[in-house]
Amino acid sequence: GKKDGRGTYRFFESAMDEELRARALLERDLREAINEGRIEPFYQPVVALPGRELTGFEVLARWRHPERGVLPPSEFISVAEETGMIGDLCYDLLRRACRDAANWPSHLQLAINIAPQQFQDRWLAEQILAILNETGFPANRLEVEITESALIQDLEATRATLTSLQNLGVRVALDDFGTGYSSLYHLRELKFDKLKIDRSYVNTITMSEERAKLVDAIIKLGSSLGLVTTAEGIECSGSLDWLEGQGCDFGQGYLFGKPMSKAETDRYVENGPAE
Ligand code: C2E
Ligand code: CA
Ligand code: CA
Ligand code: CA
Repeated sequence: GKKDGRGTYRFFESAMDEELRARALLERDLREAINEGRIEPFYQPVVALPGRELTGFEVLARWRHPERGVLPPSEFISVAEETGMIGDLCYDLLRRACRDAANWPSHLQLAINIAPQQFQDRWLAEQILAILNETGFPANRLEVEITESALIQDLEATRATLTSLQNLGVRVALDDFGTGYSSLYHLRELKFDKLKIDRSYVNTITMSEERAKLVDAIIKLGSSLGLVTTAEGIECSGSLDWLEGQGCDFGQGYLFGKPMSKAETDRYVENGPAE
């Protein structure tokens, strides 16, 4: 306001300049990092329940930054989405992951995250097919994960992409299930292969009976619709035991392993979890 005087205005202006400059730098850095392959696929184990046998990995992006260390996706995925770099980033990660997986036992699956706007891209399935052909990774070992925000945008486009992927033999998982605002509507309208129960539900199973009942209902809902379920974010054996008892099909979380580099993942595949 006027009362604050010009000094305050200038302060805000320069603070905003500062922000814009930082953002422009980040975008430039990110573009460079993608081009130079410094965004790496990390891998988090997924196990079958019960039994806890390793069935594959979820690919999670990490930026190996020369000054700032290894950066998590929260530092750059939204920027990649807003600037349209997410496609390049995703295809690069998929290509590298398919190559990394070439030396792992052939029953191990890969799951990759697809950003909402990519799902509106009518060439998504073709791009993925091209990468599978190029790397020789079989479509039936690949799963894509989408969140509900991908579905809100355009149901018909989403349905078309979903069907094209499934026709290739790629499975489609609905990620972060339970966090969107119309999960049931989407389950009714679209045919997924898997539900991934969000970590925010899984974390509290052992704390509250209501939460546990809700998770149980999601597992039963999934299986009655012919979908398999994965619980994400399993951190304690109490939750794991309970989930196994309720018939949840897969588990993922720090209890089995954090996201790991390729080298660590090779060791994990060979020797199991490090003690
Ligand atoms: P998400 O797809 O829900 O991935 C699971 C996130 O939960 C990962 O975080 C993982 O490290 C974390 N997590 C797994 N188990 C546990 C646990 O037991 N406890 C806790 N506290 N956390 C656990 P991350 O790697 O930071 O990824 C965050 C999000 O960024 C992902 O959530 C996904 O939405 C997005 N993301 C990551 N990689 C990509 C990518 O290549 N493309 C796109 N579009 N999004 C990505
Ligand atoms: Ca995911
Ligand atoms: Ca998730
Ligand atoms: Ca999540």
